[in-house]
Amino acid sequence: MGGGLDTLAQLRHFHSAPSPGRADQGRQKLQKRARAKFLSLPLAVSLAELRSPLEKSYRNTVYCASVIAQEGGETTAHYCGNRWCMVCNRIRTGRAINAYMPVLGGWSEPYMVTLTMRNCQGEELRERIEEMGRVFRNSTLWAKRQGFPLEAVRKLECTYNSKRKDYHPHYHVIVNGRMQAELLRAAWLKRWGALATVKAQDIRSCDERSLLELFKYFTKLTTKTHNGDGRRLTPTHALDTIFQAMKGRRVWQPVGFRLPEAIEEAIEGEALDVAADAACQRVEERVFWQWQQQVHDWVDRETGETLSNYQPGERFTAFVESITADVQPSMDGEDAVEGEHGGSRVDPSPIEERLRRARRGAGDRGVVERRPVAGGLRWVDDPGDRPIMEGVDSHIMPSESG
Ligand SMILES: [Zn+2]
Repeated sequence: MGGGLDTLAQLRHFHSAPSPGRADQGRQKLQKRARAKFLSLPLAVSLAELRSPLEKSYRNTVYCASVIAQEGGETTAHYCGNRWCMVCNRIRTGRAINAYMPVLGGWSEPYMVTLTMRNCQGEELRERIEEMGRVFRNSTLWAKRQGFPLEAVRKLECTYNSKRKDYHPHYHVIVNGRMQAELLRAAWLKRWGALATVKAQDIRSCDERSLLELFKYFTKLTTKTHNGDGRRLTPTHALDTIFQAMKGRRVWQPVGFRLPEAIEEAIEGEALDVAADAACQRVEERVFWQWQQQVHDWVDRETGETLSNYQPGERFTAFVESITADVQPSMDGEDAVEGEHGGSRVDPSPIEERLRRARRGAGDRGVVERRPVAGGLRWVDDPGDRPIMEGVDSHIMPSESG
């Protein structure tokens, strides 16, 4: 199976008897989690600054897994459970794979059908998604009446076209059977009329890799650049529009079968308390590892040790830094030098300050200062320099292996 996901199988394995590779495995897992956190935090800050109805949930994501508490050889963290959170998506994706793959693995003829229709504007998106649900249900009923009841897993995705400034919600459906796939496409086309074209629908047989791909995140974080030579972060306002339209909706949906056990596709705001982190050093001690964005790791403030020793690549760091630069370019041009920020002082964190400023001065683009503070965000020195990450394409986060 595809590497890197926090599948329950891996978790179980990890908590069973120690094996020689255990420390390595734990370290690797923590590094992937650190990578997810490193990307997720500035994204959540940027989203929270939009003054969206989801602001409170975005703020929760800022603090997702910000402390990993280690005691008695076990670690716990508090998770935000939000679907835009990269940290939580690793857990959620693992769960979905564990729930669906045993079923899909038994299908004789799995096909992936991609169902699309004409793009829509942001304000139409929620209604469009509802309409898609109705059309899909009608289509499956019709196929059933033709004598081909569908067994399928339907996944909703949405992308943003930054050139045309419109949205592209679509379904990827894994269907058991070529005939079922064809019928589904035909019914879909018929019901959308001029809004959907044959050319834009796709049917292909699928293997394990494409099955696994289905369970990754439902919206791409990146969009093709206008000249087509690279990818850049989808504008956060567009991501927010997608997340609002998707609120309370299922990303994955079993059709024509039931899962053996209900999977928790966490809803916005749901807290996942998962005692599943893998501590790999000082296991006997009680340690509170605190996330520090600047060192892209959880840090024991008493000793200065880092938990995962994750080292992001230069390009990835540039991409992560561009996230906050995109939304709130610094205008004052001066690096504010901060004094002592740690210890017992109850200073608000730089993130909190930034969020407060964003709320106070809506529309005032000049309020955000650069604050190269430990534990805070590191701003890009030149806001005009917005690195483009090629290959930042994976749904769940920029390439896990990269
Ligand atoms: Zn989270």
